[in-house]
Amino acid sequence: MEIAQNHSLKTLNTFGIAARAAFFARVETVRQLRQVLTSNIARTRPILVLGGGSNVVFTGTFAGLVIHNLIGGIDIIKEDGQQVLVAAGGGMVWHSLVEFALDKNLGGIENLSLIPGSVGAAPIQNIGAYGAELKDVFAYLEAVDLASGRQRLFTREECAFGYRNSIFKNELKDRFMITKVVLRLAKKPQVNISYGAIGEVLTASGITTPTIREVSEAVIAIRQSKLPDPARIGNAGSFFKNPVLDKIDYEGLKLEFSGIPGFPDNGSVKVPAAWLIEQCGWKGKRLGNVGVHDKQPLVLVNYGGGTGTEIVNLAADIKASVATKFGIELEPEPRII
Ligand SMILES: Cc1cc2nc3c(=O)[nH]c(=O)nc-3n(C[C@H](O)[C@H](O)[C@H](O)COP(=O)(O)OP(=O)(O)OC[C@H]3O[C@@H](n4cnc5c(N)ncnc54)[C@H](O)[C@@H]3O)c2cc1C
Repeated sequence: MEIAQNHSLKTLNTFGIAARAAFFARVETVRQLRQVLTSNIARTRPILVLGGGSNVVFTGTFAGLVIHNLIGGIDIIKEDGQQVLVAAGGGMVWHSLVEFALDKNLGGIENLSLIPGSVGAAPIQNIGAYGAELKDVFAYLEAVDLASGRQRLFTREECAFGYRNSIFKNELKDRFMITKVVLRLAKKPQVNISYGAIGEVLTASGITTPTIREVSEAVIAIRQSKLPDPARIGNAGSFFKNPVLDKIDYEGLKLEFSGIPGFPDNGSVKVPAAWLIEQCGWKGKRLGNVGVHDKQPLVLVNYGGGTGTEIVNLAADIKASVATKFGIELEPEPRII
C-alpha cells in the first residue's frame, strides 16, 4: 500500500481549509487497511480516520497518518416479512445509502437525506436530523482496531449512542476504523413528518399520504433552502450542539429572556443554539476570511482562504458571548484537529 507524504487535505474537508497530512493513505478494503496498519508509520504515529471531512476543522498540518476510508459495497444481508438488514461499507457516501433504501422502498433513513459525509462516520456522532437519528435504525457495525488490526463487532448498546455522541467520541476515540454499518430498515415504512417544516412542504405540494421518497424530497428541499452548500462556501453544518438544560434553569432564563425557545428533551429542555447566537448579534457577521452564515447563525463559514485557527477563534468568541449573556456553555459539534 502506498503511503503519501505531505498530502493536501484541502479538497478532503468541507470547510475547504488548506491543511496537510504528514502521511496519507487511501483504503478501499479491510485487507488494504490491515496492510497500512502494519507499516512503521502507522505503528509509530497518531492515526486519523477521515471520511467526507464534513465534521472536522483542521488547524494545521496533521503530524501523523490520515487514513481516507473509501471502503464501499452495499448488500441486503437478511430479511423477513417486516424488516431488512442492509450492510454498507464505511467509505460509502451516506446519501447513496439513503438512495439505495428509497429505491427499494425501505423506510427509516429518509429524514436523514442529504447529510454529508460517509456511512462509517454516521455512528461517530449518531447523525440526526428532522426528528430521526441513526440509532433508531442501527443494528450493528464492524470496525478494525487501529492498534492490533483485529476486527470487532459493536452492538447498538455497545456504541452508547447519545445526542450527537457515541463511545467513538469518548472512551474509544481514534481507536477503531468503522468499516461496515448494518441498519435495520422497514419494509412497510411509517413516515415521520411531524418535525420542522416537512409537513408544511408536503401540504404545499398537495401531498397528504407521502411516500418515503416524497419525505426525502421535502427534507432535501428544506435543507437546500436553509444550509449553505459546502461546494460553494466552506462549512461543516451546525457548528454547535443545541444545549440541553435542566427544566429549572430553563424556567429561570425564561424570566429574563421571555422569548427563549425550548423543546422538551427527556425531562430536560433543548434550546436552539442558533437562537442564542443570533441574540448575541452574530448572524451574518464576518471576521476576515470566516464568518457566521447570514441565514443560519449555527453555521460558521469559510469565505475562502480561511484557516482552521480563524474558525476556532471565531467559535471561541461566539461561545464567550453566549456564556456571558445566557450563562450557557456551547459545545462544538465538529472535531477540531
Ligand atoms: C452542510 C452540512 C450539513 C450537515 N448536516 C448534518 C445534520 O443534519 N446532522 C448531523 O448529524 N450532521 C450533519 N453534518 C455533519 C456531518 O455531515 C456528519 O457528522 C457526518 O457524519 C460526518 O461524516 P464524514 O464522513 O464527513 O466525517 P469526517 O468529517 O471525515 O470525520 C468526522 C469524525 O469521525 C471520524 N471518522 C470518520 N470516519 C470514520 C470511520 N470510518 N471510523 C472511525 N472514525 C471515523 C473522524 O476521525 C472524525 O473524528 C453536516 C455537515 C455539513 C457540511
